[in-house]
Amino acid sequence: MGPSTASPGSPAPDSPAPAQPASPQPASPQPEITLNAAPREDTCLDYANTCMWRGTATPVDQLAALTDVLNQVVETAGLPPETAAALRTWAAANPYPAGTLFVAAIALREAIYRIFSAISSTSPVPDADIAALNRALAEAPPRAGLTRLTGAYAWHIEPTRLSAPALLAPILWSAADLLVQVPQRRIRQCANPQCLWLFIDASKNGTRRWCDMTACGNRAKAHRHYLKSKQR
Ligand SMILES: [Zn+2]
Repeated sequence: MGPSTASPGSPAPDSPAPAQPASPQPASPQPEITLNAAPREDTCLDYANTCMWRGTATPVDQLAALTDVLNQVVETAGLPPETAAALRTWAAANPYPAGTLFVAAIALREAIYRIFSAISSTSPVPDADIAALNRALAEAPPRAGLTRLTGAYAWHIEPTRLSAPALLAPILWSAADLLVQVPQRRIRQCANPQCLWLFIDASKNGTRRWCDMTACGNRAKAHRHYLKSKQR
């Protein structure tokens, strides 16, 4: 899947007509987004953790389509709900660019996950993932100024053409800010080998091992139940 398979190269002379039109219908103009974002330092980990049970053969991915990514950015990274609604309408009418955007957003999530997973286990951080994060940061709109919200301040992003780095900008900033804080932060991965959630260990003595003792235990139970019910 992805745009690379839809090569614009001319087909062989005798090749049958392609199933899809060679020149796709023009997409409606890419919408713009405006954000007021005050990401927490672990907003990037929340995004990475949207794929759960990474240590199992059946990870549960909460992001199945662009609309799920939009929900996540609304909940954690300052995308106004009305902008998300407009983007959903655009995505429904433009499934091809929306699909490309989704694939790019997931690729960035996976790069962020691999970076912090490596850090949590003091393994070498893959250069390619840092390069991918750097490229996205360079494409993301700048944090040029602050705006005053009710009782708080946030970074303000001027209207920017929609792209994965623009949509995920606050998450990318969170990843970069957390990375440069690594010497002062304990990045951990849940000790449940099936879970592998990422979190910041803020405990006084630095001994937190689980994403959440209760939640992980409950999820582990639910997951075992789910696997059992599948086997029946
Ligand atoms: Zn866990």
